[in-house]
Amino acid sequence: MQILTVLGATGSIGINVLDVVSRHPDRFKIFALSCHTKVIELAAQCEKFQPLFAVVFDRSKANNLKKLLQETSPGTTVLCGIEGLCFIAGEPSVDTVIAAIVGAAGLLPTLEAAKSGKKILLANKESLVMAGSLFMDAVHQGGGTLLPIDSEHNAIFQCLPSDYTDAKKCGVRKIVLTASGGPFRGLDLGSLSGVTPDQACAHPNWKMGRKISVDSATMMNKGLELIEACWIFGVSPGQIEVIVHPQSIIHSMVEYLDGSILAQLGNPDMRTPIAHALAWPARISSGVASLDIIRAARLDFEAPDLERFPCLALAIQAAETGASAPIALNASNEVAVDAFLKKEILFTQISEIVAMVLSEITITEPSSLEAIQRCDRESRELAIKFIKGYL
Ligand code: NDP
Ligand code: MG
Repeated sequence: MQILTVLGATGSIGINVLDVVSRHPDRFKIFALSCHTKVIELAAQCEKFQPLFAVVFDRSKANNLKKLLQETSPGTTVLCGIEGLCFIAGEPSVDTVIAAIVGAAGLLPTLEAAKSGKKILLANKESLVMAGSLFMDAVHQGGGTLLPIDSEHNAIFQCLPSDYTDAKKCGVRKIVLTASGGPFRGLDLGSLSGVTPDQACAHPNWKMGRKISVDSATMMNKGLELIEACWIFGVSPGQIEVIVHPQSIIHSMVEYLDGSILAQLGNPDMRTPIAHALAWPARISSGVASLDIIRAARLDFEAPDLERFPCLALAIQAAETGASAPIALNASNEVAVDAFLKKEILFTQISEIVAMVLSEITITEPSSLEAIQRCDRESRELAIKFIKGYL
């Protein structure tokens, strides 16, 4: 029996994790679930899975959850705040932590899971983008395992040898990171500034949370994923090629020195990478239908258009610069996406704000968690200052 903590249980990834878990009650037991504010949804999940702990980040809402659980899940203790999240991530009886909080807010509990030697199923790419070196060190020192559930990284993981340690030793020539191109791949450039948050969140192939949906529409998501892949697989940005593949059937590929290219294919449904990582190295059912390759019929590929997707160019540049550049990229993007979702800025201003923050901020080598958090905070303050200039 694998004992699980799901950080961000009420989100798109969290819900998919619980769907797979509910298909295998003999394999998985939920120890703890967390949310930010959606206590009604979390209460329903607690009633179904009867966890020992439930954490609501927002302190004022934790009491509401306590009341809701009095009769339906009396064995669940309600905690709150970052202390609560770090407790359920590091508690000794937990085997596996699913890191599915969105954004920088996921960093501390995910780091706690790494330090505690857990098997980490990583969806929260922002924590790796911010603190890659610190995070990978914590995974190695903690003696745990990092398994990606971001679909592209999970695909790459599946296409690499099981004893993979180093791209050179394994004869890897390059990693091909596929991207759908999002909802605005074919829109004329002049119309991009007028798109609404709902249009940006209407992804053609995937149903996801609003922040990552906007990131997919700007292709910042692919940039964050490129940085994520560098840390997980120990490669440099130059060893990764981003290719637009609108059907999202190939989830990524690995090319070897002999010319062989291995790809992982499947329907675009996050339950596949989640089930793969949950049961790894075994295979279990996920609820995902077979891919009808004859119906799919075509697989198209094109180079990404960096004029249309300046966020991707900025992310590649930040990846190459390294040091604190990815922290500033991620923080300014989070602030700008939030402002776009609140209709305070235009879609095209997201990349402008990220570019301004990256050019203004001093890039340093962040040698500690405090330094990372300081750079994150300063980048956010700068982004807010630029947004105020637009209002
Ligand atoms: P959602 O917005 O759907 O869910 C986010 C989860 O995190 C919710 O449970 C939310 O709680 C919680 N949360 C939000 N803010 C905070 C906070 N400040 N403190 C604590 N908890 C918080 O996001 P997704 O599930 O789409 O994405 C989660 C992560 O997975 C992201 O990093 C994303 O990039 C990554 N990912 C997602 C994919 C997808 O298909 N959705 C694919 C690949 C990666 P509440 O519901 O109460 O607000
Ligand atoms: Mg992805």
